[in-house]
Amino acid sequence: MKPYILLTPGPLTTSQTIKEKMLVDWCTWDDDYNVDIVQDIRKRLVALATKHTDDYTTVLLQGSGTYSVEAAITCSMSEKSKLLILVNGLYGERMEDIASYAGLDYDVLEYEQTEVPSASELDEYLQKHEDITHVALVHCETTSGILNPLEDLCKVIKKHGKILIVDAMSSFGGIPFDIGELDIDFMTSSANKCIEGVPGFGLIIAKRSQMELCEGNSLSLSLDIYDQWQTMEKQNGKWRYTSPTHVVRAFKQALDELETEGGVAARYARYCANHKVLMEGMKNLGYKALIAENLQSPIISSFEFPTENFSFKDFYNQLKKGGFVIYPGKISKKETFRIGTIGQVFPDDIKRLIETIAEYHY
Ligand SMILES: *Cc1c(COP(=O)(O)O)cnc(C)c1O
Repeated sequence: MKPYILLTPGPLTTSQTIKEKMLVDWCTWDDDYNVDIVQDIRKRLVALATKHTDDYTTVLLQGSGTYSVEAAITCSMSEKSKLLILVNGLYGERMEDIASYAGLDYDVLEYEQTEVPSASELDEYLQKHEDITHVALVHCETTSGILNPLEDLCKVIKKHGKILIVDAMSSFGGIPFDIGELDIDFMTSSANKCIEGVPGFGLIIAKRSQMELCEGNSLSLSLDIYDQWQTMEKQNGKWRYTSPTHVVRAFKQALDELETEGGVAARYARYCANHKVLMEGMKNLGYKALIAENLQSPIISSFEFPTENFSFKDFYNQLKKGGFVIYPGKISKKETFRIGTIGQVFPDDIKRLIETIAEYHY
């Protein structure tokens, strides 16, 4: 099989050294595996998320990112809670599904997939609806690539004293922000996005004081993050149930490589450089970006089909032959495709991608 670069945010292209860490069948409690590895990862994750490290803690949870979002929402809410969800894409909609499945009390403020939630509308809404206790939002909406105004939204939510849950799945580790400065209560992400590990677990970084309040709230045994957190805290990083050992080893390597690269700021600069090459190249070739430039993240970008009879399948296959795998679009009102710019991908790779796209005649 010819290897290709994944321009799909999750799973994404990982380094050779990260892949090599998975060539051993590790035993969780043997010294060779390094029993302290989980505690080391947890400590480093909190330090990546905030400089207020004493106020925050983290819990890792088997499964994909959605499991962590579901766990954070369901375990932080009790029968007396009511959740407001800000929606401008499918990941916001997924939070609605989570709340609906769990039978939680919730409401939704919905926006077009090409626009960001309005801080002033949110302010007005919270003014009128005092029964809301929790607000959940997505930072980078991977559906379109739009970057929601995290700081403005957090300020309003905190002004009203609500518990704040942020799905930062596709931004944590790739876009700088401090969850302590933003006063975020629960933030979720996963191993296989901007930290550039392989899929297998998600993570929740939360205020220690809020994590304490999750006791007894879980509607599910395996998603009980309070219980998982207590086990990790009290038993030196032990997971309840089989832990994804290969993924954990690879993730530690990914954290080391993030540090070597220069941390989140350096990674952000690389993603921005990738994104710039992509945008300029696509524009020159006549492709139109879906999202306004000032709202666009450097993580993933949506492009409109250039003509009515454009075949995504042909396009996809040609790019794949050239060594690149891209993503279909997910926008409800327009035909689009998406190109991710995260993972072990560099501006020169994106230049080669643009050359490959230039050879495609639509
Ligand atoms: C990737 C992602 C998720 C999690 O998706 P999974 O398929 O469960 O890994 C959640 N929210 C956002 C914004 C994402 O980009």
